[in-house]
Amino acid sequence: VPDRLIQALEAAVGERHVLTDAAMTSGYDVDWTGRFRGRSRAVVRPRDLEQVAAVVGACREAGVAVVPQGGNTGLVGGSVPLAGEVVLSLRRLDWLDPVDALACQVTAGAGTSLAALQRHVDASGLAFGVDLGARDSATVGGMAATNAGGLRLLRYGAMRAQVVGVEAVLSDGTVIRHLGGLTKDNTGYDLAGLLCGSEGTLAVITALRLRLVPRYDERVVALLSFSGVRAALDAVAVLRTTLAALEAAELFFEDGLALVCDQLGLRRPFARAYPVYLLVECADRVDPMPLLAAAVEQLAAEDVAVAADGPRRAELWRYREAHTEAINALGPPVKLDVTLPGAALEAFVGEVREVLRTVCPEGRCYLFGHAADGNLHVNVAGAPAEATEVEDVVLNLVASMGGSISAEHGIGTAKRGWLHLNRSKEEIALFATIKRALDPDGILNPNVLLP
Ligand SMILES: Cc1cc2nc3c(=O)[nH]c(=O)nc-3n(C[C@H](O)[C@H](O)[C@H](O)COP(=O)(O)OP(=O)(O)OC[C@H]3O[C@@H](n4cnc5c(N)ncnc54)[C@H](O)[C@@H]3O)c2cc1C
Repeated sequence: VPDRLIQALEAAVGERHVLTDAAMTSGYDVDWTGRFRGRSRAVVRPRDLEQVAAVVGACREAGVAVVPQGGNTGLVGGSVPLAGEVVLSLRRLDWLDPVDALACQVTAGAGTSLAALQRHVDASGLAFGVDLGARDSATVGGMAATNAGGLRLLRYGAMRAQVVGVEAVLSDGTVIRHLGGLTKDNTGYDLAGLLCGSEGTLAVITALRLRLVPRYDERVVALLSFSGVRAALDAVAVLRTTLAALEAAELFFEDGLALVCDQLGLRRPFARAYPVYLLVECADRVDPMPLLAAAVEQLAAEDVAVAADGPRRAELWRYREAHTEAINALGPPVKLDVTLPGAALEAFVGEVREVLRTVCPEGRCYLFGHAADGNLHVNVAGAPAEATEVEDVVLNLVASMGGSISAEHGIGTAKRGWLHLNRSKEEIALFATIKRALDPDGILNPNVLLP
């Protein structure tokens, strides 16, 4: 490490917040899945906007690349240093302004965890539209940078739909700030929208102005079982058209449920097993149970479990949310997150298992996801870590069926070799032009997103 850089970083944030010792940096150097591991030159933990700008300036001067990092829960290897970069941890930027109840908005520091944001806005009778399993660690800055989707996308949209304004530091230390919170504001390029999904390659997000939604306390969760994928998707279509209060529709399969019950010692939800399960949640100001019950009557569900009280609702959610941890317990899986057009989803479920058997007969494939968005998480346990055939066959199959190789996790380092499956030469060239305009020296997360 050039000493001058470390000295400059220490001058910017204080000695205590520049970590270089491997024992201190190890948690920042490896991703949540354990699949992506590097070694940072240093981990720097600024406290505020000025310190972020000073850190970026010092790294640019030294010609050393920076990896912005929030909660480090990203699943595509975008938040860890794989080539000796400096990790810029935003977690100390965890402040929250008072809720603006008139505008239904709040301004938050980029390092605020989703759970802290949820607690903060709850007291005002409001809620945040994006929710995901990593809520205790994922930060709003990281969620914007990945344009996170999550469990309620069908009702409220992804992160980009929640971001009203942004404050960010550019690679030359310039600060852009547009946090006024005007919901109607057609004054040129949508910079906040551009930074959503940019995965730390265009700017470091330091604060966000966020849209809030009403808090609905009357909730019902139902777990439905089906004889096949088609029947479950038909049910989703009925529920979407008849239930305005529908907030989530999550799909999983018998092999995943069996693994979850086994790993976590949970009782099975039904007396017998079914091929496909759908977990739905409705939320409203008035009890959504009668409407949900009437809708369920129209469905071809084999078996139904319904929960209205908090603990029982959480129990039903556990069958879906625990998939990630149960699969991880088998060793780091290959994790792919894809979208299929609704009409192709059923065929994909059959074909993906077949193509995987040909390239990785020893792998165990688990599928689960957000049914209404056509978003499936394809997890392959037991695949050799270095083999890329698994990614290759799955992502090519997805593209050939008109799907997206990344539904909500982003491209990161994991998928950049396959970006061409979804984006044309011309689009990728335009991406590179935008990158050069904002980051001419290529110091912001240079190993992520662009091929
Ligand atoms: C159990 C579990 C469940 C999950 N469920 C979902 C889900 O349902 N939907 C979903 O979309 N994702 C999900 N994820 C993935 C992950 O939580 C999201 O991608 C989340 O948005 C990452 O936030 P983070 O703060 O951890 O970002 P990190 O992992 O730290 O970083 C992610 C990317 O954003 C960049 N970045 C981080 N902070 C900033 C910043 N302030 N400025 C600029 N760039 C930045 C990083 O460089 C990196 O490229 C899940 C993950 C886990 C572990």
